[in-house]
Amino acid sequence: MGSNDAKIIIAGAGLGGLTAAGCLLLAGFDVEVYEQAPELGEIGAGVQQSANATHVMRHLGVLDALRDVAYLPPVTEFRLFDSGEVLQVLSLAENHEARHGAPYLQMHRADFHRILAERVMALKADAIHLGATAVGFEESASHVALLLSDGRRIEGDVLIGADGIKSAVRRQIAGPATPDYTGDAAWRLTVPVDRFAADFMEGKSSIWVGPDKHAVVYFLRGGALLNFVACTELDEWIEESWTLKRPWRELKADFDGWHEDIHAIIDAADRDECYRWALNVYPALDNWSTSRATLIGDAAHPTLPYLAQGAAMAVEDAAVLTRALGEASSIDDAFQLYQRNRLERTGRIVREAYENRGLFHLETIEALRAAFAKRDMDRERSDWLYAYNPLTVDLV
Ligand SMILES: Cc1cc2nc3c(=O)[nH]c(=O)nc-3n(C[C@H](O)[C@H](O)[C@H](O)COP(=O)(O)OP(=O)(O)OC[C@H]3O[C@@H](n4cnc5c(N)ncnc54)[C@H](O)[C@@H]3O)c2cc1C
Repeated sequence: MGSNDAKIIIAGAGLGGLTAAGCLLLAGFDVEVYEQAPELGEIGAGVQQSANATHVMRHLGVLDALRDVAYLPPVTEFRLFDSGEVLQVLSLAENHEARHGAPYLQMHRADFHRILAERVMALKADAIHLGATAVGFEESASHVALLLSDGRRIEGDVLIGADGIKSAVRRQIAGPATPDYTGDAAWRLTVPVDRFAADFMEGKSSIWVGPDKHAVVYFLRGGALLNFVACTELDEWIEESWTLKRPWRELKADFDGWHEDIHAIIDAADRDECYRWALNVYPALDNWSTSRATLIGDAAHPTLPYLAQGAAMAVEDAAVLTRALGEASSIDDAFQLYQRNRLERTGRIVREAYENRGLFHLETIEALRAAFAKRDMDRERSDWLYAYNPLTVDLV
């Protein structure tokens, strides 16, 4: 389809929606993004992006700006929850970039989001519309219209639902998605590193594994801020929301018996800034599209964060969908090309992230040691996960 005469509407200005807007504008499409929030922003937590996503950031022209605000970890170590014994090492920093041609970045979400939004607005100043909540869409042979909660009807040629796990666009394409609670809740907090002893954790990222729980620790903003996400099994149902605070003492009690470094982080945290969110799984979809609407990111394939690939998949989707819209002769062909090339990979990522839950939470130290001894995660992830380049992969 021709790019110059096609107008693309995107619902959602999250990391996926903004990446799609940038890629599509660069490819010559006209783009309008409708975001429910009254202001642009992201929550105060970290996000990791591996080469399969950072290739796209270079393409968008924001890689240097992201490097400036990111932290490039030397390694990620998998460590035992109590002794800190190292079970596996993923080599990152120069190794990751040398192997895959793009860096592994750990960033504050707000920095990543701001830099993407600024890039989109540099490409088209008035592309992003705030306070615009999508409730559904209508489509005909010639148009699609995004319906907003205030009664507005926004017409275009193509609609992309980038509106996250509670996607209104997905609801209309695939029916209501019923979340299934995994039994895991994720604590999140950030702590300035000047609250720790010098060279705390030697600047390494780490994933601490133990019975029923694991904790992920990494640095942001050139190493000035520490990001802590801790997933713990919890019977009671809680809400899937990034902004629900819980008492600090519950976090402290959850990690009773864990290594002193984990307690150093918990002790250094602001007592009233401990957030906890429920991790759900959703049934996989085998179709993401109607004749003029399709989905990207969490709206298409929500995942557990246990491979750190949810946002990376949204970025990959954005790049592949842009290529498909540019290459195919019709919207329908473009959507088929897009999802044919994305369903298998995203399905595998979601599956392997889920499998990591079992691995990370094994019940005994012996079982954890034995399971990690059988793996070579550095090679496994390099072979298929990080080696993928959505800008150059053959579309078949
Ligand atoms: C604990 C945790 C850690 C994670 N760590 C990583 C990581 O290290 N690396 C990684 O790649 N991924 C990670 N993820 C996953 C990642 O956060 C998500 O996969 C990613 O944010 C999905 O991006 P998205 O743009 O599809 O959706 P979202 O980020 O959810 O964005 C959706 C946007 O749409 C807007 N919206 C919603 N509904 C509407 C509507 N009706 N109308 C208009 N706008 C709407 C929202 O306000 C939002 O701006 C993690 C997730 C969790 C829970």
